[in-house]
Amino acid sequence: RAKAEERGGYHFFEARMDAAMQARRVLEVDLRQALAQGEFVLHYQPFVNVRSGTVTGFEALLRWRHPERGMISPAEFIPLAEEIGLIVPIGEWVLRQACADAAAWPAPIGVAVNLSPVQVRSRHLVTAVFSALAASHLPASRLELEITEAVMLDDTESTLATLHQLRALGARISMDDFGTGYSSLSYLRRFPFDKIKIDQSFIRDLPARDDSVAIVRAVAGLGHSLGMTTTAEGVETVEQLASLEREGCKEVQGYLFARPLPLSELQPFLDPGQRLQVA
Ligand code: C2E
Ligand code: MG
Ligand code: MG
Ligand code: MG
Repeated sequence: RAKAEERGGYHFFEARMDAAMQARRVLEVDLRQALAQGEFVLHYQPFVNVRSGTVTGFEALLRWRHPERGMISPAEFIPLAEEIGLIVPIGEWVLRQACADAAAWPAPIGVAVNLSPVQVRSRHLVTAVFSALAASHLPASRLELEITEAVMLDDTESTLATLHQLRALGARISMDDFGTGYSSLSYLRRFPFDKIKIDQSFIRDLPARDDSVAIVRAVAGLGHSLGMTTTAEGVETVEQLASLEREGCKEVQGYLFARPLPLSELQPFLDPGQRLQVA
């Protein structure tokens, strides 16, 4: 009897595994066609200079407009795209599209593009960035490339060489989600990032949690001393904004100012001299 139940449980588990693998295979087939079918879109979220209140640039955030399933967020398909190597052509499309869109914005408003560790490891990246800049005529100084600490875990020598080549093109390099990976401080010393983006998890509890305030203050101080801009991610309230200003954070990004928006809705944010109003 016990044996029969065990077998039943096993079959149930097996059936669920099959369903999960089936779903993954379907997603994979769809993902392989998505680029050719033009199903990817970029949304843009502004980042704002704390002192002046003006928009300094936009981060490009990828979405997949699936014909049946609707808008799919990057967290749901980027890991699979990385696993099957598709992130390289998808990432090249993102670079080209983001640079082409940004070339039409008034200077000095720029664009930030997220890079997967798989892209940074691939031999094509520097060429892809170069050709996206050349095709769009976007000045390289208006392109930021965001990498995470996971990139720095890879083969350090060749990663550093790639980052230096990207910098030599004139692009700027940001460390995204700072504080969530490993050994962040040694990476800040190994590579001169232009910007540190403090992860949302440290912003969420401002100003109530003393330890979050202390961490933001320390990172802003570190960034200042090392000549790097510090940007806070996921700013949602005026209280968080006030706390970030007090602690010396230079730039902010979050729903308080704007959600990621389709290109067609950016017009109100495209005046480089205008002070943004918060809710
Ligand atoms: P990320 O680069 O750290 O982007 C920030 C994420 O936080 C975005 O989620 C954004 O929509 C969200 N966010 C912004 N402000 C707020 C806020 O005030 N509150 C809250 N709760 N969330 C906020 P999204 O667009 O879902 O992107 C998730 C991640 O997917 C990104 O994290 C990035 O790592 C990755 N990603 C997005 N686009 C690309 C891409 O083109 N290429 C690659 N390789 N990765 C991408
Ligand atoms: Mg990012
Ligand atoms: Mg981030
Ligand atoms: Mg993040």
